[in-house]
Amino acid sequence: WEKEMARLARLNLIGEMAAGIAHEIRNPMTTIRGFLQMSKKNRNMTIEYVDIMLEELNRANGIITEFLSLAKNKTTYMKIANLNDILSSMEPLIQAEAMLSGKHLHVHYGPGADLLLDEKEIRQLVLNLAINGLEAMSPGGALTIGTQRAGNDVVLNIEDQGCGIREEYLEKLGTPFFTTKETGTGLGLAVCYSIAARHKAAIEVTSGSAGTAFSIKFRIAGE
Ligand code: ADP
Ligand code: MG
Repeated sequence: WEKEMARLARLNLIGEMAAGIAHEIRNPMTTIRGFLQMSKKNRNMTIEYVDIMLEELNRANGIITEFLSLAKNKTTYMKIANLNDILSSMEPLIQAEAMLSGKHLHVHYGPGADLLLDEKEIRQLVLNLAINGLEAMSPGGALTIGTQRAGNDVVLNIEDQGCGIREEYLEKLGTPFFTTKETGTGLGLAVCYSIAARHKAAIEVTSGSAGTAFSIKFRIAGE
C-alpha cells in the first residue's frame, strides 16, 4: 500500500510537472524566436543577444534533463548501504564545487548505520541540497554536511550560512518550477522531495537570517 502511495505521489508530481514544462520550455523558445526574427531584419546582432539565447537554451535543456530523470519509468535500486560511505565518496566533488566559488565545506560523520537506500538517488539528493546551500552563500561562507543518529533514525543535515529562505516561500519549496534564481530551474528540490518520499524519509527545513538547514530523517533498516 505504501508503495502504491509513493507511486501515486510520483505520478501526481509528474503530472503537475508536465503541465508546467510546456510553459517553461515555451518561454525560452519565444525569446529565441524573437531574437532570430530580429536578426533577420537587422544583421548587426550583438554577442549579448547570442549569449542570452545560449543561456535560454541551456536552461531549457536543464529542465528537460531533470524532468527526464524523474519521469523515466525507473526501477529503484534499494540496497542496504551506509550513508557515510556515500557522503565520503562525494566529498571531493562537493569540495571542488565549494572551492570554485570561494566557500568552505565541513563534513561530520556520525555513527554509521545501515539504511535501505538507492545510492544513485541519494547522491542526487545530497548534490542538489549542497549546491543550493553553496549558491545561497557569499564567498567565505561555510557549508556543513553531517550525519547523526537519533533513536531509530539516521539524520542527514545540510546547513549553510546563506541568505535564508523567506517565510512565505517555505511552503513553496519542492513545488516544481518554484525558483527565485534568474537562471534556476526550480526542479532541484522537487527531485529531492520525490527521492525522500521514495525512501519514506522526512525532510525538515529551518531557515533564518543566519542561513538554512535541511535535515532528512531516514529509518534504520530493520527497525
Ligand atoms: P533552483 O535552485 O533551480 O532555484 P531548487 O528547487 O533547487 O531550484 O530551489 C528552489 C528555490 O528554493 C530556490 O530558488 C531558492 O529560492 C530556495 N532555496 C533552496 N535551497 C535554499 C538554500 N539553501 N538557501 C536559500 N534558498 C534556498
Ligand atoms: Mg537548486
